[in-house]
Amino acid sequence: MKKQITIIGNGFASLFFVRYFLAIPIFPVIAYFFRRIYSRYDITVIGNGKFIYFPAIPEFLTKKRNKADVTIDIRPFLRRRNIRFIEGTVVDIQDGGRTVITHDGEYKNDYLFIGIWPSF
Ligand SMILES: Cc1cc2nc3c(=O)[nH]c(=O)nc-3n(C[C@H](O)[C@H](O)[C@H](O)COP(=O)(O)OP(=O)(O)OC[C@H]3O[C@@H](n4cnc5c(N)ncnc54)[C@H](O)[C@@H]3O)c2cc1C
Repeated sequence: MKKQITIIGNGFASLFFVRYFLAIPIFPVIAYFFRRIYSRYDITVIGNGKFIYFPAIPEFLTKKRNKADVTIDIRPFLRRRNIRFIEGTVVDIQDGGRTVITHDGEYKNDYLFIGIWPSF
């Protein structure tokens, strides 16, 4: 049975962490099938689905870029790589990290990655 990895947050840290589990990051379609066949892990990301590109925030504040330029919908990226996405906010972590609670449900894991920057 595959090990379950839960990742909280869909920001920089989480996406870098995800990268380590992608067999062929450059070719997402191939990676999708490759991960289905060979992956030892089921990966679940819990977040709001919006990746904010912080380095461009100063340009956003000075109106050189608009909101769409600095906010990326991360869900297609995850879907193409066969990574489950749960839209939600984590409100509690229990069982020493093995259970993650959101407003809508509970998610069990074997490994937990917390990528929520200072929010934690
Ligand atoms: C203006 C600005 C410019 C920057 N420029 C650079 C740069 O040029 N180079 C560089 O290396 N770094 C830069 N940084 C720093 C960099 O953005 C941070 O170090 C990095 O974003 C931290 O990554 P993270 O994944 O921990 O947090 P984030 O990228 O902030 O991601 C946190 C994620 O967790 C989610 N989250 C929070 N709470 C919960 C919850 N309870 N449940 C579910 N999800 C939750 C958020 O929605 C978000 O998706 C910059 C930062 C800022 C503010």
